[in-house]
Order: sequence, then structure tokens, then C-alpha cells
Amino acid sequence: MEKSSICASHDHDPHRGLVKPIQTSTAYFYIDEGKQPYPRYFNTPNQESVAAKIAKLESAEAGLVFSSGMAAISGGIMPFVKPGDHVILLRGLYGGTHSFVTKEFAKWGIEYDFASTDLNEFESLIRTTTTLIYVETPTNPCLGILDLKSLSSLVKSKHILTVIDNTFATPINQNPIKLGIDLVIHSGTKYLGGHSDLSCGAVVGESQLVDAVLANARNYGGTLNPASCHLLERSLQTLDVRVQRQNSNALAVSQYLESHDRVGKVLYPGLPSHPQHQLATQQMSGFGGMIAFELADGFDVTDFLRALKLATPAMSLGGVETTLTIPALTSHKLMPEADRQACGVTENMVRFSTGIESSQDLIEDLQQALAGLQS
Ligand SMILES: *Cc1c(COP(=O)(O)O)cnc(C)c1O
Repeated sequence: MEKSSICASHDHDPHRGLVKPIQTSTAYFYIDEGKQPYPRYFNTPNQESVAAKIAKLESAEAGLVFSSGMAAISGGIMPFVKPGDHVILLRGLYGGTHSFVTKEFAKWGIEYDFASTDLNEFESLIRTTTTLIYVETPTNPCLGILDLKSLSSLVKSKHILTVIDNTFATPINQNPIKLGIDLVIHSGTKYLGGHSDLSCGAVVGESQLVDAVLANARNYGGTLNPASCHLLERSLQTLDVRVQRQNSNALAVSQYLESHDRVGKVLYPGLPSHPQHQLATQQMSGFGGMIAFELADGFDVTDFLRALKLATPAMSLGGVETTLTIPALTSHKLMPEADRQACGVTENMVRFSTGIESSQDLIEDLQQALAGLQS
């Protein structure tokens, strides 16, 4: 089935409404019933319905929805590691994930190393105790691309579980399971929700793996409430059209920025100038809505953000409205300078999350803001 049809398809409710009702019950009649729905068992009607849709979008057997991206990330990692295990993670992970790993793993006696998008680094770090590899691609905020197919074949015979945070790409542009990755995680707070008004997360994969995640998640309790399940399911109906528009807007905006003499480096996987454009073309069906760029030397990034009238400086990403941040002053502020440089985050870098506005309006906004800058 095409993704646009998965997004739009619905279960009819018993009263023949086209929209699945919000089932608020936390208690269910149980005499003579096998299954016991309960919110923290992740098996109420709204939870199961939306989780199944996300699983289908990712070509996964099963899925679970969580109350935040981090609940999904912690829930997707912890069942598969134990004291003495070794984990390899991509350097420059989402800040919350980096914080989780560096603070929690030590407490549990789990060892770890970080590697760049160069797979040789991953290979050289593998130990006999390595049980899990955790990655993101495209990376935040520098839009580096990691070769997922090569990564999965590298660890195939080694009993190492591969886990990806696919938030930036969305299931519309990239399906890691088809490339051999085991478990896919989303912060649904970003593109899946898509309207900057919903906190949620998801984990999808083979049933056996998702069962292991569930057994652990029932103890940790990061369950998603029925109203949010409904909002997420409604958002999924427009995921395909939103992301297609974000893809085309991001390409138009990045081409415009690349041609502007007040703009320095522009990083967008869809641009032929992107160092891994070929790889992105192979493993992604669209290049996403995220762009990173630098202003030319001598221009102030905060002045630039203040001069914009349509695009809004705001944390978070993936919404229908275009938002921007300066990573060195926001998401990557607490990172030591050397680590920041290793990830390629410079002082005058802007992270641009493209919305669904008209690309012409976005370009005109950038044009007026850049034209007014004083050097
Ligand atoms: C936002 C984000 C998360 C965390 O999601 P929350 O819903 O804020 O917990 C994880 N990974 C990526 C790539 C994100 O952008």
C-alpha cells in the first residue's frame, strides 16, 4: 500500500463514524474476556490503532506509542542491554539521547563508545561484548548521512541489535527496516505530530523485539493518553502531504541559500554539493525538511533571526510552520567546544526546519532578512 493510503486509512467505529472514537476508559469489563486493555499495558484501542499505523508506515510487524520521544528511546534501548555489555553510538546524537546515555549507562555498568558516520570507525570499535548499535541519519544539525545498509550487513552475523532514531527522515523519506535495521524509533513530537502541539514517541520492529520493549515499558510506565493517540492518528492522515511539501520547500530554500553571497556553507542532503548526496539518494526517497547553513563571515546570526518575518526562531522542529535555531546557542550550548566542533556545529550555523508555507514566501522572507543585515 502507498504511504499516503496508509496515512489516510481509518477503522470505522461501531456507529459508522469515519473517525475512530477516543476511548477514554482505563478500566475494562473482564469476565470471560481474554485480553485485558489497560493504558500502561499499551493495549487500549486508541494506542493499538495508532501504533499499528506507524508500524505499517515503517514496514514493521509491530509497534508501540509512548508519551515522548525520550520515553520511546529509553524504552527501546534498555531491554537490550545489561551490565557488562558494550554499545556503539553515533557521535552527535540528539542532545536528550546523549544525556541519557552518558548519565544512565554508567549507573548500569554499560560501556559505550561514539563513532562518526564513517563505518570503519564502527567496525573498529566492535568488541565481543558489543550488543547494540544506536544511530541517527540524517544527523542533527549537520545533516550527515550514515550508510544503513552497510551498517546492517557489517553486524549481521555478530548478534548486535541495530537501533535507529528515524525522527529527522520520517517514515515517508526513509524506511530503515527495509535496509536491515532492527528497531526504529521516532520522536512523534516532531514530524509525526507535525503541528507543534503534541508530545509522543514510537518504537517499531519485529514482533519479538517489540514484545521485549513492551515487557520493560510496562514497568517504566511511559504510556500515551487516548486524546494524544487520537491527535497523533489525525496527524498521520496528513503526514505524507506535509512531508512531501517540506521536502520540496527545503530543496527550493537550500538552492536559494546556496546561491546567496551572504550565506556560507549550506548542508542539505538533496543538494548535489552535499558530501554524501549519492548515499542519501540511495537510501532515502526524499531528503527531508531540515537544512543547516552558515552566514558568511561578518554577519550576526541572532540579527538575522530577528529580521525574519515569516520563519520563526523556535526550539523543536518538524511542524507545519518554518522554525529556526542557532544550535551553538540552543541545542548544543552545553556541549564542550571541542565536541561541538567535532560535530561540525559552528557559531554562525543556523538550523532550519522547513514548514509547509509557500516556498516563494519563505524565499522572500530570507531575501529581505539577508538584504537588511549589517556586516
Ligand atoms: C526531539 C527529538 C527527540 C526527543 O523527543 P521528545 O519528544 O522531546 O522526548 C529524539 N530524537 C530526535 C532526533 C529529536 O529531534
